[in-house]
Amino acid sequence: MMDTLYRMRFARTSSSDQFDVIAKRVRVLLPLPLSGPYDYLVPPDLSVIPGDFVQVPLGRQTRIGVVWDPAEENGKVLEKVVDDSRLRGIEVRLEVLRMSEPMRRFIDWIATYSMSAPGAVLRMAMSIPEAFVPGRPRILFRPADDAPDFRETPARKRVLEALGRGPARGAIDLAREAAVGPGVVRGLAKLGVIDGIEVSDDLPLSRPDPTIPGPNLSAEQQQAATALAGRAGVGGFSVTLLDGVTGSGKTEVYFEGIAAALAAGRQVLVLLPEIALTAQFLERFEDRFGTRPQEWHSDVPRARRRRVWRAVADGRARVVVGARSALFLPFCQLGFIVVDEEHDLSYKQEDGVIYHARDMAVVRARLEAVSVVLVSATPSLETAVNVKQGRYLALHLPARHGGADLPEISIVDLRRESPERQCWISTPLRLALSETLAAEEQSLLFLNRRGYAPLTLCRACGHRFECPNCSSWLVEHRFQGRLTCHHCGYFTRMQNVCPECGAEDRMAACGPGVERLAEEVSSLYPEARVELMTSDTVWRPSAAAAIVSRVQAHEIDILIGTQLVAKGHHFPKLTLVGVIDADLGLVGGDLRAAERTYQLLHQVAGRAGREDRPGRVRLQTHSPEHPVMAALVSGDRDAFMAAEAEQRKTGNWPPFGRLAAIIVSGPDESDTEMVARALARTAPQTENFKVLGPAPAPLALLRGRHRRRLLVRTTRSVRIQERLRPWIASVKPPNAVRVQVDIDPFSFL
Ligand code: ADP
Ligand code: ZN
Repeated sequence: MMDTLYRMRFARTSSSDQFDVIAKRVRVLLPLPLSGPYDYLVPPDLSVIPGDFVQVPLGRQTRIGVVWDPAEENGKVLEKVVDDSRLRGIEVRLEVLRMSEPMRRFIDWIATYSMSAPGAVLRMAMSIPEAFVPGRPRILFRPADDAPDFRETPARKRVLEALGRGPARGAIDLAREAAVGPGVVRGLAKLGVIDGIEVSDDLPLSRPDPTIPGPNLSAEQQQAATALAGRAGVGGFSVTLLDGVTGSGKTEVYFEGIAAALAAGRQVLVLLPEIALTAQFLERFEDRFGTRPQEWHSDVPRARRRRVWRAVADGRARVVVGARSALFLPFCQLGFIVVDEEHDLSYKQEDGVIYHARDMAVVRARLEAVSVVLVSATPSLETAVNVKQGRYLALHLPARHGGADLPEISIVDLRRESPERQCWISTPLRLALSETLAAEEQSLLFLNRRGYAPLTLCRACGHRFECPNCSSWLVEHRFQGRLTCHHCGYFTRMQNVCPECGAEDRMAACGPGVERLAEEVSSLYPEARVELMTSDTVWRPSAAAAIVSRVQAHEIDILIGTQLVAKGHHFPKLTLVGVIDADLGLVGGDLRAAERTYQLLHQVAGRAGREDRPGRVRLQTHSPEHPVMAALVSGDRDAFMAAEAEQRKTGNWPPFGRLAAIIVSGPDESDTEMVARALARTAPQTENFKVLGPAPAPLALLRGRHRRRLLVRTTRSVRIQERLRPWIASVKPPNAVRVQVDIDPFSFL
């Protein structure tokens, strides 16, 4: 079907795969997880160059791929292997855009580094196949000039109000904005209350204006902004760390970098770790530059993503803000990349092609010869070490804007201040909550656990509810009446009868989740307006934006949330942060556990006291003497990070040594074990290449697959991929067993 579509839209260059004249041949990379590019013949009436998008036959189908560069080794073009007569021809060159050379090198680079098929990486760069077909015209709606009388329902009213707030828009956008179904919009069009106009799908987009002045910057902000704008404006590769406490104006400062890149006629990419943050960013950006940037993440409707993809490729889109996948957009004039909250874990992509978007942003910046800024209040150890070793320039913003004080952080020692049984809020935290409520200020309670309780068991027989597909407990979600696995999504209805012993009403919830905490808060403060913010309740940016604006309008007294609330939101009247279980992130043998816990808790603490009212933070912990707690209380981040660095250096752990995880997984346990052992047996035996394992992975069963893990540790000088490749290729696993490599692993599950 696709085939006919293209034939209709583009002139076909040849009706047959065979050519009389000896044709040139080229390599074409297809967006499929195959090994590498395939050879194709170029028909005589066609000329192509690397980067062209072409349609080629593959088996009995046709596919769109990219003409790739000739295979070279040491500067010499490699000889062809397959005879011309056995090759098929390119069918069509798409008269669209071309994939730039830096983008092609970027794809090759990631494939080599992550040990993935180049086609699998290309697929991320061609995630919207419709982008290669000219778009159908779109219908945009605007108020009709002389609207007839009609019955005004609340839904219709909202649509008209939404329309009054902006330019003509499509039915889907309008419906989303007005929170109605698209049918309401179409109904209004039918009545003649609004008019539909037909426009091309590839309209010019309004351009952000870098000449609109920003706020008056403080001397420190100005200094950082000048340095950053200098780097962003001139072109050339550079990496800058923008290191400043929460509320110090990092965003205002990197806006100056964006302005400089825009003024130089370049495009800008802003990566955010969490799509829930984009709504707030869009507004701030619009205030500063007069129009919204383009948005790119999984929640953007597909038709919109198609438009953005094309607009990025042909330069109409000047600024894109998005999740890590935005890194694979085909910018044609990229000039500046921002990685906000660079330490954030969600930059690590864990399935398919495994990569770290912060690191890959640096790679892309190098290949594009542009500037990248990494932004954080708690930079990762990787970045801190790069600064120390002189590879990255660091700019510091030590103080909160407007002289607001950093919150006062103190510890509640749970060994002495233990809450009552089945309660999670200690007396000191409760007093602080009461005071905050009485002062008509807002509180945030942070607990990084979704659901009601992390474990449910039967008090009669001790039966625990476990996921049938994963080695993990099922988490009770009381609002949904379900027990859910947080790893694979399996769920079952919450039940009163034990499936093991048949006892009735003996189910016990063990430990707290945010839902249970909300219950406790509501019983302590029945009058207070309490709201939950977790990825279960807000999974769209618009929902997050709604909660954020309700907090800002002081319609909420106590906000309870998981790490979703920790990130970047600005709550002016929030003066108390209570961390229910500060130790939660420290359990488990993860090498970054302490660093990560510090970053997360610091970020949560940063939600308190962002304006004129001073903030305070109460950390409930069983281990007050832990270096993480000590550093949070003293505020001495650099000493904490230096101690962390020292420990990692001694053990030759990242970022001082290199690490790769090899996960062997399969439906059959003994096959999986066999492959893992074969790998261990055949591991290269050299001094700088240590192989640990195989051991059952902490999640020894995940989504129905058994898992074994090997960990490889080398010094930095070793090219770990070059050693891994022949070794892994030498072990031939049975079909159902997969061997997956994770270079620089972050997750040790
Ligand atoms: P960060 O990104 O470091 O958390 P922001 O850039 O969000 O900090 O700044 C925190 C708040 O202070 C924002 O509301 C921002 O608009 C404001 N702000 C920062 N610097 C200035 C300035 N120089 N003039 C006016 N407002 C500022
Ligand atoms: Zn599961």
